[in-house]
Amino acid sequence: MNNVNYIPQSAMVIVAHPDDIEFSCAGTIARWVKEGCQVIYILLTSGDVGIAEPGMTRARAAEIREAEQLAAAEVVGVSEVIFLREPDGMLENTLALRKRLVREIRRFKPEVVICGDPTVMWVGDNYINHPDHRAAAGAAVDAIFPAAGQPNLFEELTEEGLTAHKVRKVYVQAWNEQADTFVNISETIDLKIESLRKHVSQMKDWDPEPMVKEWAAAAAKGKEMAYAEAYRVVTLVSDEDFKKMTPGFDETESIDESEGIKTL
Ligand SMILES: [Zn+2]
Repeated sequence: MNNVNYIPQSAMVIVAHPDDIEFSCAGTIARWVKEGCQVIYILLTSGDVGIAEPGMTRARAAEIREAEQLAAAEVVGVSEVIFLREPDGMLENTLALRKRLVREIRRFKPEVVICGDPTVMWVGDNYINHPDHRAAAGAAVDAIFPAAGQPNLFEELTEEGLTAHKVRKVYVQAWNEQADTFVNISETIDLKIESLRKHVSQMKDWDPEPMVKEWAAAAAKGKEMAYAEAYRVVTLVSDEDFKKMTPGFDETESIDESEGIKTL
């Protein structure tokens, strides 16, 4: 059960490309950061095949897109951005990638991880979910559970001092029908749009504002809020267990008995 006021102390977002976070969850991140949450972005690729211009090289494109991603992160108050520089357009959910993600999860020990849904293939009638998005989501989910929390898996990481870590909750980006948790982003949607605009090489002359507002309004429909981002939330560590593993844990901030759809 998720508290209506639940704000994690720390969160990690794992995505395939620069701009994936801004399209999907930057409103949530902006809100959590305002409330004191420490956030880290993990970018699996640097979007190096994402600029189709004559004479553009992958190396130059990666440089441009990493700079845009850093600027976008700064808009919502995130300063820790890690680029794993896997090849854009060729991302695969391999054991090697799983281990790289386990390393980051054990290093930063986030309370919450936000990632995509590896099972999403068809989106509406005019888009197929990018294979990199599916691979990134699969790698993230497989690293979170159970790998990151198993001390005898990737024990060489344990020997480096990167001890096992259990992620408390996974926020899986969801289309509205699959979602069970709607984060109210009415106060941070402008930051979300501003952060999206930092991806100049992708936006070009396109103004993302009408579309972002349309999507966020659709997610918020019937929920007493103007704009929302939608998730399916998986709780991997119960409130009771989380309390045991967290010294100074404030129960009133994290346990809630409310029923039904959660509107954060
Ligand atoms: Zn993408």
